[in-house]
Amino acid sequence: MASNPKAIIWFRQDLRLRDNPALTYAASVGEILPIYILDEKNNANFPLGRASRWWLNHSLWSLNKSLNGSLCTFRGDPIKIMEELVSTYQIGNVFWNRSYEPWQVERDTAIKSKLQIMGIKVESFNGSMLHEPWEVLKSDGHPYRVFTPFYKQHRIKAIPRTDTVDLDNLRFFKPNQHVTDLKSLNLISQNDWSTNMLSEWIPGERGGEKALKLFLDQGLFQYKLGRDFPERNAVSQLSPYLHFGELSPFRVWNEVNNYAISENLESQAEHFYRELVWREFSCSLLYYFPELTVKNINKRFDAFPWRESSEFLCKWQDGETGYPLIDAGMRQLSRTGYMHNRVRMITASFLVKNLLIDWRVGAEWFWDSLVDADLANNYCSWQWVAGSGVDAAPYFRIFNPVTQSKKFDSEAKYIKKWVPELVPCPNKYIHDPSSAPSKELQQRGIELDKDYPSAIVDLKTTREAALAAYKSLKVVSQ
Ligand SMILES: Cc1cc2nc3c(=O)[nH]c(=O)nc-3n(C[C@H](O)[C@H](O)[C@H](O)COP(=O)(O)OP(=O)(O)OC[C@H]3O[C@@H](n4cnc5c(N)ncnc54)[C@H](O)[C@@H]3O)c2cc1C
Repeated sequence: MASNPKAIIWFRQDLRLRDNPALTYAASVGEILPIYILDEKNNANFPLGRASRWWLNHSLWSLNKSLNGSLCTFRGDPIKIMEELVSTYQIGNVFWNRSYEPWQVERDTAIKSKLQIMGIKVESFNGSMLHEPWEVLKSDGHPYRVFTPFYKQHRIKAIPRTDTVDLDNLRFFKPNQHVTDLKSLNLISQNDWSTNMLSEWIPGERGGEKALKLFLDQGLFQYKLGRDFPERNAVSQLSPYLHFGELSPFRVWNEVNNYAISENLESQAEHFYRELVWREFSCSLLYYFPELTVKNINKRFDAFPWRESSEFLCKWQDGETGYPLIDAGMRQLSRTGYMHNRVRMITASFLVKNLLIDWRVGAEWFWDSLVDADLANNYCSWQWVAGSGVDAAPYFRIFNPVTQSKKFDSEAKYIKKWVPELVPCPNKYIHDPSSAPSKELQQRGIELDKDYPSAIVDLKTTREAALAAYKSLKVVSQ
């Protein structure tokens, strides 16, 4: 241990006190300075989106409250801030939990070596993954490119612990200068949208605990089959809490698993575990293929004839495509910062395959709009849907939004919630109002293109055009 027992705990994507290995370790060292740095220098290529900034703001307030007001927030380049702090306050130790996004890995490596040269003890921990990317590799030491073997290998490894520090024994010290108060981070501007969001979510560790409990009470028992139906409340909605680290995956899994054992819900829990492993798989892919946020993994797609259409793009973003399930999903996203997984797949497929708009354009919109916007999960998922990723959906799997709507929202409850102008529409036509005889809609007081848009494209012809575009691409060896 460094001779000076003061320690910085650098909070990043681990905005919690419970089950936080870096915090536990720091607590055993001495007095702690808990800090958060808004780093807008190193993440210049992926600045936080609007929804992420909103979430982060509330999450930091919540963390600060749990720390009895001891959280010190800064804005700027972490290396400079850290150098200044350690020298001004004679701090001997710096601890953090690891992040895996390429820009963070590069930054953290540089900071670690700089601080070590200054004689500071620097330790990093695993606080956000059940198993870190280098722990789940093929027998030849290479990373997996296919999900199922990754999952199998992941599954046989022991599930790690949930670890908790004695919060009453934490001793903090506060610097008397340099600190930017939380408000001056300017993460959000007050408007109707941000006020509404507070009725949807409770960011922070407490909010995460409530969401987890709700999932155990109401979601887990129906997870396996129900998770595909957007109106069933069968999914956990834990993604923003996992992204910001307000809950650790160890804790989530251990609580789900223990509950499942006590209630005989093991097979439901296994499906949930599988989804957590998708999160780990995405993290591993981004770690080993850092270019996947900008480049097709499958080079065959480099020649894809993407179309630029700001008109179609705006209609998709605004939820005005004339396909109710798509519009419901896109409106849910704009209003709540969240969209159900199945609907994410369908809306994404519509953009890249029916509208032929580049997946990067869609990913950028999601990045800005999602409260769970996550570099690995978002970009891997978009490449998966587009067919250009590793282990991606086959290109010819083009979701038909009408068929999907009839199957997964048969009573149109989800549609009616987010597209209320269609509430009077007869169920027979609600999944595809453009197919209804206009008389039928008029009788219910609906006029297409006045009350609700007619379909912006024909599904059959756009599907054929997409398949033709794909066929025209030369196979490229990987
Ligand atoms: C186009 C597209 C973009 C996406 N962008 C994101 C994103 O930015 N951030 C994000 O967290 N997820 C993203 N996903 C994955 C998935 O849709 C969400 O994780 C899930 O809908 C979150 O809801 P939930 O917490 O209720 O999930 P649950 O079904 O309750 O799953 C539990 C947890 O497992 C993880 N998970 C579930 N499904 C996936 C998946 N397919 N890939 C990776 N992790 C998964 C999440 O952390 C989730 O919270 C995207 C999917 C698609 C198709």
